[in-house]
Amino acid sequence: MYDVVVVGSGGGAMTGAFLAQRAGLSTVVVEKTPLVGGTSAYSGGACWLPGSQVQQRAGISDSTDGARAYLEAVLADPDWTPDQERVEAFLTHSPELVAELEEAGIPFEWLPFSEYYDAPGRVAMGRSIQPTSIKRGDLTPEVAALVRPPVERDRAGEGGRNTLSGGQALIARLLEGFVGAGGTVLTDLPMTGLVLDGDGTDTRVAGVAAMTPEGPVEIRARRGVLIAAGGFEGNAEERASHGVPGDVSWTMAPRGTNTGEPIAAGVAIGAAADYRGVGWFCPGLEQPDGGGSFTLGFRSGLMVDATGNRYANEALPYDRFGRIMAEAAQGSAGRIPSWFVFDSREGGRLPAIAMPEGDPAEHLAAGTWVQADTIGELAERIGVPADALVASVERFNGFCASGVDEDFGRGQDEYDSFFTGGAAPAPCDQAPFYAARFVLSDLGTKGGLVTDSAGRVLREDGSAIAGLYASSNSAASVFGPRYPGPGAPLGSAMVFASLAVRDLLA
Ligand SMILES: Cc1cc2nc3c(=O)[nH]c(=O)nc-3n(C[C@H](O)[C@H](O)[C@H](O)COP(=O)(O)OP(=O)(O)OC[C@H]3O[C@@H](n4cnc5c(N)ncnc54)[C@H](O)[C@@H]3O)c2cc1C
Repeated sequence: MYDVVVVGSGGGAMTGAFLAQRAGLSTVVVEKTPLVGGTSAYSGGACWLPGSQVQQRAGISDSTDGARAYLEAVLADPDWTPDQERVEAFLTHSPELVAELEEAGIPFEWLPFSEYYDAPGRVAMGRSIQPTSIKRGDLTPEVAALVRPPVERDRAGEGGRNTLSGGQALIARLLEGFVGAGGTVLTDLPMTGLVLDGDGTDTRVAGVAAMTPEGPVEIRARRGVLIAAGGFEGNAEERASHGVPGDVSWTMAPRGTNTGEPIAAGVAIGAAADYRGVGWFCPGLEQPDGGGSFTLGFRSGLMVDATGNRYANEALPYDRFGRIMAEAAQGSAGRIPSWFVFDSREGGRLPAIAMPEGDPAEHLAAGTWVQADTIGELAERIGVPADALVASVERFNGFCASGVDEDFGRGQDEYDSFFTGGAAPAPCDQAPFYAARFVLSDLGTKGGLVTDSAGRVLREDGSAIAGLYASSNSAASVFGPRYPGPGAPLGSAMVFASLAVRDLLA
């Protein structure tokens, strides 16, 4: 019997677990896979936690008021109304959480990374923060062995690096603190359902059911259960039933994880769910094995659809680009797959950051990349109209020369030039030319259990289910269909996990 059961082990789960254990609540982390960290361990570790002492130390012009103005503008959506109490709880608690974590020995630093909207309250070069890196040798060996490796190494079946940075550092530091404070981690233990005590209005969640090789077990919780176990990005049926475009093989979540049982378990006991946030999207570089790779920061080159035409500013923040790509799923045919056309100016490598990029030679052998000496020949080889592709490239090159993208405004926003070191996009004019196949990838879904400003899971009638909390991609996102800036998934996951712990302690 524990005080608190935390389901999942991403950034939100581990923040909740660490803070609960540190506050004296005996806490267990129940993790489906052999490793801790999920997609969060793959992440850059950027945390959108505005107005904290870290931004102040860095001397940037961030504040809670500025972030409030920014969110007011960014979250405005004709089809979705933010829960202002949750937004306010996020804003108010972000600096408190950072102060608490730093005080508990988890140091952060400012991470220059442009925010995703040109809106009032935006901070030049961003307001995101990240945990500082940590050496493997500074971790206890058991902890070091449990942290899921970075995505390119994990997918290749390799172990982690000697220096853990970004999401690796976040998970490692929280796990080290949690275990050091006496917390328990149970891996290879998929949660399958919720255990209830009492009946009628006295019903409360008193633990979880989980599956071991020997059969089902119950893990009881005196105070409550926090579900922070990813979304349902790895579940094809759930994706289809909630209208999530993309594909399980293109999601960035570790293979076989995040199939949504924890959300379903909440719904099965009467929780409300809201799927309108849909997902955190991105263009995905298709891999020879059919997977997708989160890609951002295009420095040159152009993306075209099946007609050989551009359809968006390739340098848009990735979720915004992904959502335009996803319109294909609603009838604007021909964007999945898209083809990214680039030249040889970077020696045949993709002029962007793809995680993982893969080996160009393997891409060329598999046909996920195609190479040709002319654009016309390239068009033939990828099956798009040659005259259209030649015209698209010429027009794009003209925009590069004039410095104005008359079609999509690429290069005008601070974010666009963040990855080019301030330079305008380079033309596509150095043979040989390449086309790389792109699909719609995601960093996870973000529809799930409806929660209040304390992270409590709510029923349809707005009443709270006693003993049940949710955060991370298991909860409907406080940001709905928007992705305000780098670190919004982790920042919001951590804040609501921490608020859940406050409620558990109250
Ligand atoms: C390359 C990359 C970079 C990114 N960079 C950033 C960034 O810098 N900042 C940011 O905010 N976001 C970033 N993201 C997105 C972010 O990582 C995810 O959206 C976020 O980490 C999801 O957190 P989560 O806790 O919901 O899920 P996860 O981190 O995936 O954790 C879920 C865990 O729950 C476990 N689980 C699932 N089902 C069960 C079950 N039934 N029982 C027990 N355990 C279960 C899973 O095995 C997994 O370990 C990035 C993503 C990628 C791929």
